[in-house]
Amino acid sequence: MPADDALAAAKARMRDLASAYHAALPGRDTHSLMSGLPDVHLRFMPLGWRDGAYDPEHHVILINSDSRPERQRFTLAHEISHAILLSDDDLLSDLHDAYEGDRLEQVIETLCNVGAAAILMPPELIAEVMAQFGPTARALATLARRAEVSVSSALYALAEQTDLPVIYAVCALGRPSRAAETPGDDEPALRVLSVRASSSAPGVKYTLAAGTPIPDDHPVAAALDTGMEFSVESYVPFRSGKRMAAFVSVCPVRGAVAASFRLDSLRRTGREDPAEPSREEEKRGQLKARPGEPPEAGSP
Ligand SMILES: [Zn+2]
Repeated sequence: MPADDALAAAKARMRDLASAYHAALPGRDTHSLMSGLPDVHLRFMPLGWRDGAYDPEHHVILINSDSRPERQRFTLAHEISHAILLSDDDLLSDLHDAYEGDRLEQVIETLCNVGAAAILMPPELIAEVMAQFGPTARALATLARRAEVSVSSALYALAEQTDLPVIYAVCALGRPSRAAETPGDDEPALRVLSVRASSSAPGVKYTLAAGTPIPDDHPVAAALDTGMEFSVESYVPFRSGKRMAAFVSVCPVRGAVAASFRLDSLRRTGREDPAEPSREEEKRGQLKARPGEPPEAGSP
C-alpha cells in the first residue's frame, strides 16, 4: 500500500478507536477522560520540555504540571491515544508493516494527535459549531472554548471537517521569525503580528506558513487593535507577498486572533453575486462590530 494510503487508513482507524473511547465516557472532564483506562494512573509533575508521557509498563500517564490547562488537556488526550493505539494489535501491525524507525515514531505521534482531537472534539460537536457559525473565525473560537483546547488544536480539527474552500489561521504578536527578518538588520526585534498556526480544508492547496507576517492594514490586525469580531472581503496575506482575494472573518481570542479565509465567495463572479444577494448582505452586516464580548473573555 502506498505510504499516503497507509497513513490515511491508519488515521481513519485511529479516529474510530478514539470515537469509540469517547462515546463510552461519562463526561469530558479530566476524571471522566481517564475512566476508559481504569488500570492507568494519572500524575501531574514538572516534566521540563516534555508535555507528557505514557508508560505502558507501569500503567502511568504523566502530564507536565507547568503547562497551561488547555495544553495539559490536549496532552492527556494524546497520551490516552497512545494507550488506545497500543491496545489495537491490528493497527499496530499495519503500522509496523508500513513504517520503521523515526518515520514510525512520527506517524505514531501524528496518530495520537488525531486521536486526541477525536476524543476532545467529536464530530457531533464540530458539526454543531459549524451549523451555528459556518466556517468562520467565530466557529474556531467557539470550538476551542467548548472543547477546552487551544485555538491551534481546534484549528486542525475544524479544518478537517470543513467541506468548503477555507483556510483557518491563528495569528498573534511575537518576535519575527528568522525568515521574515531582513539579513543584517540591527534594529531590536519588534513584536510583529504573524501566523502562529494554519490549516486548510481538504482539497485546498494553499496554506499559510507559520511566521507569515500580517500587514498592518489587514482585518486580522484590525481585530487585534480593536478587540472586535467582524467579517469583510479582503485577502489571504501569503508570505510571498501574493494577495489572494478571500472573504475573511476575524475573532479576537485569548490575546490572539482567530481568522478564516473563504476562497470561493469572490471567485465565482467577482465582487457581486446576484444569485445570493441576501447572503452577501448578511456578510456585510457582520462587518459592523458585534456588541457581544469576545467569546474568551474571562479566560486566563
Ligand atoms: Zn506522543
